[in-house]
Amino acid sequence: MSIPLMLTAYLALTLGALSAIGIYSEMRRRRFGPAHPEDRVFRCTKCGYVYTDDADVDRSRCSQCGKLNEPIEF
Ligand SMILES: [Zn+2]
Repeated sequence: MSIPLMLTAYLALTLGALSAIGIYSEMRRRRFGPAHPEDRVFRCTKCGYVYTDDADVDRSRCSQCGKLNEPIEF
């Protein structure tokens, strides 16, 4: 087995393991659900701040920089 082939195989295995962990944690998250399912999650497009607000608001103002953001749809 050549070195580049081993590196490729190692990378593929690592990526596969990471994907498995990602899928597993996603399944766990969906089973238990968020603590406040009524809330919407927002991610500021300007500063990247993640926060929640009530489900009945369409847009929410970032408490860090004041930008209005759309909710993240799951
Ligand atoms: Zn912000």
